[in-house]
Amino acid sequence: KGDGRGAYRFFETSMDLWIQQRRELEMDLREALENDELKLFFQPLMGRDGSQITGFEALLRWQHPRRGLVAPNEFVECAEQWGLIGKIGEWVLAEACRTAATWPSPMTVAVNLSPHQFASGDLVAQVRKALKAARLAPSRLELEITEGLLLQDSATTLDQLAQLKKLGVKIAMDDFGTGYSSLSYLWRFPFDKIKIDRSFVAEMQDNAAIADILRTIALLGQTLNLEVTAEGVETADQAKLLSEMRCDHFQGFLYGRPMPVGDIPSFLMAATARRLRGEDRDWLEG
Ligand code: C2E
Ligand code: MG
Ligand code: MG
Ligand code: MG
Repeated sequence: KGDGRGAYRFFETSMDLWIQQRRELEMDLREALENDELKLFFQPLMGRDGSQITGFEALLRWQHPRRGLVAPNEFVECAEQWGLIGKIGEWVLAEACRTAATWPSPMTVAVNLSPHQFASGDLVAQVRKALKAARLAPSRLELEITEGLLLQDSATTLDQLAQLKKLGVKIAMDDFGTGYSSLSYLWRFPFDKIKIDRSFVAEMQDNAAIADILRTIALLGQTLNLEVTAEGVETADQAKLLSEMRCDHFQGFLYGRPMPVGDIPSFLMAATARRLRGEDRDWLEG
């Protein structure tokens, strides 16, 4: 009996601790924006032959004073639950556009959107404002959405997507293949791009069926006139296979990890130098 109570008490205290930690996290996250603790990292997106940088994806980080650099998977969901993603998302849009405006045109920036941002109703206005403030051409902004958004199948969501497209912004379906009924969404909304989830890329060399699915998605992209990006490219062998499958864009640690904004100029310069020396395909073939 004594043991049971002890275990219960232990459970109770660890629950308390858990709740307390979540509360702390919430308090901290509320102040993160004001304290300038949120940062955008940028990961390069490569063009068809894997040598040209066509743009970067903006990936959110939280530079927490005690916890260090916190990844989005650890706080974006909380931000959504606590109703903080609206403000954070607006900041991400503005910051990403501001940064992209310093890059050579037509280099693009991709921004991840949470379904909650569509629920707020002023997403289109936010995007317009961010572009205008940064003087960034709409064609240089790509918005990445996930299937979860379309699962709700609401008229206002489709309407906002249509308005965004009309602005000239590109729309990409992120993490393609991981959700439920990806295919039906492709004809319900005119996407510009699909991004194949990195789990497929990671498995394709061990599993012939997955390689076949990848090849079919790439073909589907060509048929529907959608650009296809392969995520999570880590090895030269993967890049070669995906190239043969005719993916249009590549993203992954092989080309570059998400980097702080200050590292971008030297990254771009090194890439240009490699091109000038004619070595730009070395990392694919080497
Ligand atoms: P995502 O949009 O699919 O972003 C790609 C994720 O894969 C990034 O993780 C990136 O660091 C990681 N990655 C890229 N290349 C490789 C690779 O070669 N190997 C491996 N193992 N991983 C790779 P990250 O930055 O931790 O972001 C995770 C997710 O958080 C993102 O997935 C996105 O859904 C979400 N997210 C990031 N930033 C934002 C944001 O500003 N707003 C919202 N709503 N969500 C965001
Ligand atoms: Mg993304
Ligand atoms: Mg993705
Ligand atoms: Mg993904």
